Amino acid sequence: MGDNTGRNYFVGVDLGGTKILAGLFDAKLQPLGATKLSTKAQRGSDAVLERVARCVLDAIDECDLETKQIRGVGIGAPGVVDQEHGEVIFAPNLGWKDVAAVKELEKRLDLPVFLENDCHVCMLGVYEQELKSKPKHVVGIFIGTGIGGGIIINGELFTGANHTAGELGHMVIDINGPKCSCGNKGCFEVLASRLALFRAIQAAVKNGQKSELTEMLGEDLKDLRSGDIRKAIRRGDKVVEKIVEEAAEYTGIAVANLVNLLNPEIVVLGGGVIEALGDEMMPTITKSAKSHVMPGLFKNVEIIASKLGDNAGITGAAVLARNKTR
Ligand SMILES: [Zn+2]
Repeated sequence: MGDNTGRNYFVGVDLGGTKILAGLFDAKLQPLGATKLSTKAQRGSDAVLERVARCVLDAIDECDLETKQIRGVGIGAPGVVDQEHGEVIFAPNLGWKDVAAVKELEKRLDLPVFLENDCHVCMLGVYEQELKSKPKHVVGIFIGTGIGGGIIINGELFTGANHTAGELGHMVIDINGPKCSCGNKGCFEVLASRLALFRAIQAAVKNGQKSELTEMLGEDLKDLRSGDIRKAIRRGDKVVEKIVEEAAEYTGIAVANLVNLLNPEIVVLGGGVIEALGDEMMPTITKSAKSHVMPGLFKNVEIIASKLGDNAGITGAAVLARNKTR
């Protein structure tokens, strides 16, 4: 096995606001192992990049490999990236502006490094690993703390004129809705993300509505996680169930808009919220999408939940490194 360069492995990095994940993949993009570090964004970009480098080297070491066997390192970063120059232009979660991430990491790792937006990278991972690159037109919606997306057109990631395509979390769904972090009102993200769910649940509890969650976590709902929401629903919590149902309905509206716009074969939903609450949300998402799409346009659209979960980011980042080095 192997080619004459002897470099048959890839590292995929998922750089998030709270944690860094680095995964090792072989030439066929099969996962070999992964390591995790906290991001510690408050320490500044230099310190974070040092931690990314350490996480990559740890992952290589954990898999009993050496850097000379690695062909490339892909990185998915949150926010706006200039992939051509390897810079993170703006990443509010990290507190970064104009950070030359690729240059710094190549210096530290002595390996070729490639940068992409995290949701674009997740889309690449889901498309290649889960959908086996079969469908030509796919929309990916990733629902976590925020909401982002990726679009595949004719088998290729569509990135747009300024490389920012797929910011579907900021589609306006309800002009009278709550204010979004972007300054607009009623964005998809402010109605259906993890933060949106948490906010709605906290408001309901504050208004005196009874929820299983206060029994599980206390009145202030400290450390509320998506998994707790699922548990509460399974215990019969109607307040929480209704809030999740509403988020699923909004998600269906977003899906309908995207189906009208792009006519994809598959809409795939992923991210932490779908990983935790997919069973609860998917039927409503599908129903809502069907009822909001223009008549006749729902033909042959499949709406599915990704099974890659947290691994979508590292997988896609490895796909990126593979694509850029072949
Ligand atoms: Zn917004």
